Amino acid sequence: MQALTKLVDLETRCAVTLPNGSSCSRSLACKRHSMTSKRAVAGRSAPYDQLLVQHQNARRAVQ
Ligand SMILES: [Zn+2]
Repeated sequence: MQALTKLVDLETRCAVTLPNGSSCSRSLACKRHSMTSKRAVAGRSAPYDQLLVQHQNARRAVQ
């Protein structure tokens, strides 16, 4: 089975749908898209705000 659309990781990526039909592959903290757009992305395991906090905590832990 082949996926026609390469999906980005909804847990760690912005994933807002772009005009060309693909998903934004920038990080959750993407500045190009609004919080509203990122919250509207369907399919995340947790609300955008929650994933963003986890993402920021994870980055902090690495540094
Ligand atoms: Zn984006």
